[in-house]
Amino acid sequence: MASYVGRFAPTPSGPLHDGSLVAALASWLDARAHGGRWLVRIEDLDTPRNELGAEQIILGQLAICGLVSDEEPLVQSTRIAAYEEALVRLAEAGQVYPCGCSRREVEQVLVTLGFLQERDEERVYPGTCRAGLRGKPARSMRLLTVLGSEDITIRWSDRRLGRQRQNLAREVGDFVVKRADGIFAYQLAVVVDDAFQGITHVVRGEDLADNTPRQIHLQRLMGLPEPAYLHTPLVMGADGNKLSKQNGATALDVSDPVAALQKAAAVLQLPRIEALSVTEWLSAATRAWGARWIS
Ligand code: GLU
Repeated sequence: MASYVGRFAPTPSGPLHDGSLVAALASWLDARAHGGRWLVRIEDLDTPRNELGAEQIILGQLAICGLVSDEEPLVQSTRIAAYEEALVRLAEAGQVYPCGCSRREVEQVLVTLGFLQERDEERVYPGTCRAGLRGKPARSMRLLTVLGSEDITIRWSDRRLGRQRQNLAREVGDFVVKRADGIFAYQLAVVVDDAFQGITHVVRGEDLADNTPRQIHLQRLMGLPEPAYLHTPLVMGADGNKLSKQNGATALDVSDPVAALQKAAAVLQLPRIEALSVTEWLSAATRAWGARWIS
């Protein structure tokens, strides 16, 4: 498949950890096994989470592991005009509306309705501002997850997880596409940029699988192509949750890159590869990937 374009899209909130290398490696192997291109995109929109220097550290860690973008990495903070334009198009189509609710207010409504027992349960936006702001100042912009009075249900197929479905209205609720702090939401930016970069295949961690229906919904609304999706197994931290900075994930150790790659490959259910160099390891791993994940 000559037209394959894949990507790895790290957030520069810190160095890569063991879990992020799994996603990076999987997306790279899938691209190479398909004879395709592999791009890196720096997702730096959530400025409060950005860490100074993280982008260079991430690109350095990737390079040591032999994973180098086929083009100059795309940096999302340079793409604001494109997100503005997408939002205008969605507004013109009557798909977005301003919301004046704070997080606390959303929570209070859900508690009152008996939908929220515990503080950190997934919050399904109850549609408070759908019918208008009722005098409240606008904070964020939300995307409708209903068509008239019908819930929108997205059905899709993941190359590893199989058939999936999600009722967006009931499981997510109208979701934020532009935040109260003016920052464009990940869901909108990722869809605009996957299309802009011509991404045909998305390979990323399973923690993002439940975001995919929101992204597919946006692609369909905007008439954008739908990439194929493969969500990779996660690396778990000592607390049993997905490895993240919050549960003490330490920076990926690239002092022995073949060992680091080997560890990531085990998570991807690839056999152990005996190789002396990163290049040699990667080409053997590309064949193993094809045999395991490409039918
Ligand atoms: N930037 C996101 C993250 O680091 C990944 C986005 C994606 O692969 O779609 O979690």
